[in-house]
Amino acid sequence: MSQTISDKLFTIRFKCDKVSHLTIKDRDVCIRCTTKDCNFFCPADVYEWDKKQKLTTVAFENCIECGTCRIACPSDNIEWVYPKGGYGMSFKMG
Ligand code: SF4
Ligand code: SF4
Repeated sequence: MSQTISDKLFTIRFKCDKVSHLTIKDRDVCIRCTTKDCNFFCPADVYEWDKKQKLTTVAFENCIECGTCRIACPSDNIEWVYPKGGYGMSFKMG
């Protein structure tokens, strides 16, 4: 039986810091962004445009550290650093 992405993500463990390792640099840039690419390229659904508050929410606790958002935001508006030592993701298997 083939595994879904959700099945595979279930094999990852997270230890969350209280402070986000992902930062939106400039909220106004997101307001002007017409494509909201971050809502689509992140495999862990970390970014979501909140229409009401007019900001990009960042669920950094779900980040699997793939690094895509370092290069994929068309306006280079996401600051990405590795989580502090001892925090972040680890694999249950392999
Ligand atoms: S983070 Fe980048 S892709 Fe996402 S809404 Fe802001 S400017 Fe657009
Ligand atoms: S590093 Fe990957 S998983 Fe983490 S927020 Fe960026 S795109 Fe999503």
